[in-house]
Amino acid sequence: MARTGWDLAERRPTRQIHVGDVAVGGGAPVTVQSMTTSKTADAEATLAQIYALAAAGCDLVRCTCNEEAAAEGLARIVPRSPVPIIADIHFHHEMALAALEAGVKGLRLNPGNLRKEVEIKQVAAEARDRGVPIRIGVNAGSLHPDLFKRFGGATAEALVESARMELEYFAEVGFDDGKISVKASSVPRMIDAYRLASETFDHPLHLGVTEAGPPPAGLLKGTAGIATLLSEGIGDTIRYSLTADPVEEAKAGRQLLEALGLRERRDLDLIACPSCGRAEIDVIAVAQAAQKALEGRNLPIQVAVMGCVVNGPGEARSADLGIAAGRHRGHLFIKGKIVRVVPEDEMVDALVNEAEQLVVQGAEARLAAADAGAEAAAEADRLALLDDKGADANASETRVELIRKKFGAD
Ligand code: SF4
Repeated sequence: MARTGWDLAERRPTRQIHVGDVAVGGGAPVTVQSMTTSKTADAEATLAQIYALAAAGCDLVRCTCNEEAAAEGLARIVPRSPVPIIADIHFHHEMALAALEAGVKGLRLNPGNLRKEVEIKQVAAEARDRGVPIRIGVNAGSLHPDLFKRFGGATAEALVESARMELEYFAEVGFDDGKISVKASSVPRMIDAYRLASETFDHPLHLGVTEAGPPPAGLLKGTAGIATLLSEGIGDTIRYSLTADPVEEAKAGRQLLEALGLRERRDLDLIACPSCGRAEIDVIAVAQAAQKALEGRNLPIQVAVMGCVVNGPGEARSADLGIAAGRHRGHLFIKGKIVRVVPEDEMVDALVNEAEQLVVQGAEARLAAADAGAEAAAEADRLALLDDKGADANASETRVELIRKKFGAD
């Protein structure tokens, strides 16, 4: 494939598994996962979360299965869920067997917590018979103590070895439908472990920085780890682990994949200029108002809010739609071309209206429907602003002059 100059590394080939009807690995689109926080036994509350997660862009949802009542909850949840459900299992292999009985489409086993070979094999054999994949979810914080000792800590090698041992148990019962995660809360360690896992296995990899914490730090850590690996072509499915509403995890996952060009845009992408001495509006307030008014309307476009008409339409010419302020008016533009000029207090309403029409009719039709004279009006405002504020709107050159004079005088 010809390189365009902004390609990520080619995705590393992995085998493909299916979690219900969702393909993971083997060139399938990278998927987004999250986990419910309600009691799984409370099927209604858990389903409400699952629907919210699916609406936010989640492809797969995991629910804990830690007790019999949770397994019973899964039996009620699975048939009504809009996305495949994965059961999260720690310590008790009976819970994995009960979750399979409940009809889950995937299991996650933590080899650090579920350690008995005979039990692991029993679960793998049952999953094999039902055609259900298993994620080997290795976690640095709960690494098997023997491996911790052998490797002198939860090193990348130790995490990968844990996954390898589990795969061996699986292979002994003829089960090979696994995916792997080697998570750590340390970003460099997690990156190191996944790079090694990618060299070692051809199984699909589930990426995540575990216990990343609340946003914004949790988001940054998750992004640093996940995006680094994705940019190297590593990773088939992702989960942000945030101390926040799981919907935030799903949104972050989806937005990251869209930002990297790994999934098609399905949601609004609002961009805004950072503002400067030229700004004709409170860019932060208008951007927030625009975000609020536009989101949730199923508008898969990039919209720009720019502080001035002097530079805004040009700087944001790659956006599908945008608005720039100038002389108490909003200058609405499509792909950098001015199509309408509206009073400043109607900027956000005009943006919403145009966004909705743009999504339905497409850019060409909306450019053809541009107001006659809009471009000339915007140019007049632009020139007037240049006249008012000159080319040095931030007074940088004036200040530089003063500094020079000061030093020259000393
Ligand atoms: S020049 Fe205009 S568009 Fe660019 S940052 Fe300043 S206000 Fe925003």
